[in-house]
Amino acid sequence: AHTLRLILGDQLNASHSWFERKDDGVLYLIAELHQETGYVKHHVQKVGAFFAAMKGFAEALASAGHRVLHLTLDDTAEFASLPQLIDGYVRSHQIQVFEYQRPDEYRLLQQLEQLELPQGVTKRQWDTEHFLVDYDELPLYFVIDKNQRMETFYRKMRQRFDILMAGGKPIGGQWNYDADNRAKLKSADIAEIPAPLLFANDVRDINVRLERHQVATIGERAGSLLWPVNRQQSLQLLEHFCRHCLPRFGLFQDAMTEHGKQQWSLYHSRLSFALNSKMISPKQVIERALDYFQQYPEQISLAQIEGFVRQIIGWREFVRGIYWRRMPQYGQLNYFDANNELPDFFWHGRTNMNCMAKAIGQSLKYAYAHHIQRLMITGNFCLLAGIDPDQVDAWYLGIYIDAIEWVEMPNTRGMSQFADGGVLASKPYAASANYVHKMSDYCTSCHYDHKAKTGDRSCPLNSLYWHFLLRHRDRLSNNPRVGMIYRNWDRQGAEQQAAISERAAYCLANLNDL
Ligand code: FAD
Repeated sequence: AHTLRLILGDQLNASHSWFERKDDGVLYLIAELHQETGYVKHHVQKVGAFFAAMKGFAEALASAGHRVLHLTLDDTAEFASLPQLIDGYVRSHQIQVFEYQRPDEYRLLQQLEQLELPQGVTKRQWDTEHFLVDYDELPLYFVIDKNQRMETFYRKMRQRFDILMAGGKPIGGQWNYDADNRAKLKSADIAEIPAPLLFANDVRDINVRLERHQVATIGERAGSLLWPVNRQQSLQLLEHFCRHCLPRFGLFQDAMTEHGKQQWSLYHSRLSFALNSKMISPKQVIERALDYFQQYPEQISLAQIEGFVRQIIGWREFVRGIYWRRMPQYGQLNYFDANNELPDFFWHGRTNMNCMAKAIGQSLKYAYAHHIQRLMITGNFCLLAGIDPDQVDAWYLGIYIDAIEWVEMPNTRGMSQFADGGVLASKPYAASANYVHKMSDYCTSCHYDHKAKTGDRSCPLNSLYWHFLLRHRDRLSNNPRVGMIYRNWDRQGAEQQAAISERAAYCLANLNDL
């Protein structure tokens, strides 16, 4: 072979133009890298899913007639980093051309752009051919010194790709049906949640390999993995979602429950790993969902399909734009100067706060929590408790099956921690127990009283909520969406204010024991 083409673990796009024709002069390299298992402590199922999907992809390419080199952790142990591995193979295989797809993570892009190859070897970068918006087009949508709003971007996407549009106007007359998507689950609803489609992929070999190389991981080890690890399974999951979950996707998008057989993912698609590893494309997902909407208009209302489309063509592409236009500075932002330590219970889930115990517990068990659990349970707690955003980022980047920095960081540092000071969101998503009680049944069986603001049994979120608002009053009181909340505080009596502050101080001093 004279050409070496690198395929990273999140570049498993079988439709890439690379694979349109077979060429014996091209060698594809897919490698389990020690640097990728170690840049953050990952959930063991996340590493398992990526490694299994990479192996499957290598086998599929080989059986389609391509030349493929699949390396395991055993084979790459002698290389400290990706650049060293490439350099080694370029030399030992007398490679003349090295090609790679543009990484979606800043750290890897730096490595590959800075990679120096032996004299005479050419380096070439390709697009991943995955996103709806090309990388080169991002400056058209994301102006560097302006705060960005998803809604503006989303409307442009709807128009550009002609999705749910009629005569240049949004179908139904409204762009966004988010306001219809805030239902709480009643017990009758919980009984109707569809049974999940779970796979049983054997990852015992991978687990043994991870142990042999002493890869430090978090979360529950599973010999059989429920996540899709190839394109076929990803498409099955997409069908399952469209048929069984899409009809109520929007309606219960923000709801949470600890009851029922599928309480950990409800009507969510669980397609994020399949998408982020690029086994399936956003275009494919949207087209299939729109097909269903057209075919079954009685089952799937406009609010459901619009809500789903918005996540994929709106949020997903939007956070990627923010990431690439703002890195590397974005990763340093800490608007509130938050510097508390992440409490230990994030690593084991044992806390008296039932909402946190459930959200963290299921994250450790499945490497998954749905959006509102990430944003309004664990994320909100970190925001109120003033946890160092670096530590918050590291936790989210490690624990979730779909966590890759381009999508994890804007969501965590930006949307959930407001550490970017409003680049992405117009106000911090700060909430007291009132919100948790409104959207879930977690509070019913909790040790703490969700209504109480003071005293030992009061939900920590209530006093921490006020403490957060007060300690950042200078930064938030001018925000039109937050300012009026301070009036509620000023109206409370001095005694009550002192008791709330005292409870908050106790909670902050004893975060590990909550
Ligand atoms: P569904 O609810 O079924 O949504 C469908 C798809 O829409 C998702 O698969 C995803 O591709 C896309 N989507 C939905 N919301 C977002 C969003 N806010 N940003 C980007 N894409 C979105 N998503 C990740 O893919 N990786 C992450 O590391 C990640 N970290 C997050 C951290 C925090 C603090 C928060 C608040 C959100 C994070 N998200 C992340 C976004 C979102 O929570 C997940 O995409 C979603 O929960 C994945 O589950 P699902 O496939 O069942 O999603």
